[in-house]
Amino acid sequence: MKALRLHGVREAVVEEIAEPAVRPGTVKIKVEHAGICGTDLGLFEQFMFPNEFVHPLFGCPGPHVLGHEFGGRVVELGEGVDGPAVGTLVAVRANRWCGECEACQAGAGNRCVAWGFTGINGGGGGFSSHVVLNADQVFAFPEELGSQIAAMVESTAVAWHATKRVGDVAGKNALVIGAGPVGLAVVMALKARGAETIVVSEPGEARRALAQELGATAVDPRETDPVALMKELTAGTGADVSFDASGVGRITFDTAVNGLRTGGTAVYVAVAHGEFPVDVNAFVMTEKSFTGSFGYTDEDYAETIDAMRAGTIDPRPLISSVIELDDIVEDGIKHLLGEGRNTEMKMLVAP
Ligand SMILES: [Zn+2]
Ligand SMILES: [Zn+2]
Repeated sequence: MKALRLHGVREAVVEEIAEPAVRPGTVKIKVEHAGICGTDLGLFEQFMFPNEFVHPLFGCPGPHVLGHEFGGRVVELGEGVDGPAVGTLVAVRANRWCGECEACQAGAGNRCVAWGFTGINGGGGGFSSHVVLNADQVFAFPEELGSQIAAMVESTAVAWHATKRVGDVAGKNALVIGAGPVGLAVVMALKARGAETIVVSEPGEARRALAQELGATAVDPRETDPVALMKELTAGTGADVSFDASGVGRITFDTAVNGLRTGGTAVYVAVAHGEFPVDVNAFVMTEKSFTGSFGYTDEDYAETIDAMRAGTIDPRPLISSVIELDDIVEDGIKHLLGEGRNTEMKMLVAP
């Protein structure tokens, strides 16, 4: 089968590899759509996991197939697996966990001591025609929504999990920094979970337009101070919760913290670009909190799919184009690292 494998820094190749065989306890799927993520761009440019590195949960060296956001159809069930039935449309949970450590036992497999991702650390990936997954990684997905939406579950679950880090958001006011795929998914998750006023800070015009379309008030931080606007819209109080989905650094971190009311919580749902100093007293004298958010759990997956089924989350506006696997390096990855950064949102690949 054809697959996109990463061999080194900026060395991603669509090549012919052996189709994986189903094993006991696994499910084989035929991929229908797979999303290109900012993480894929980071892997392409920085190649953080050398080929010699063997992840304990995946047990194989690189080069690995990329693609961790995907949906497809079940084609074969391994021994001991009784569903979903062959032919079922499924969304794939990319992260894997050991099942034994303290976090796993507490139902927080996303914090597993040995966490790893299908499509990054091994185990095949969505940028190929077929993938064999552990049975617990496949979630039956509503047929009527189709495989493009199934491929959007992964990135949406990242955002869903981030909003759950602050508990119930119903009736709360939120500030979101960055309107890329994750920031916009945070807006969708906040809306679906009943948040009140949502202010989005984003310099890109097309991205701001999408945030507006999803029900947020979006501003260009170079023209309008999002902190001042948040306070204006909340009678001088500030946001109950904020989300930095940009990872830009000190400047967006400060916006996320300064936009909060006293006692509010800032969530970091990005990988920060480098280290930066933090004013600890900004938290001490206001009793604000700061927390990170990483990946998702089975509960997040089930709830995200339920919200899509109910129509309270509709990620269709985020899908900007669909391309073929043969074109993924030039028209997908390199395009997104260049001019596509401003014109594309979520690009899907149809292997
Ligand atoms: Zn991703
Ligand atoms: Zn674990």
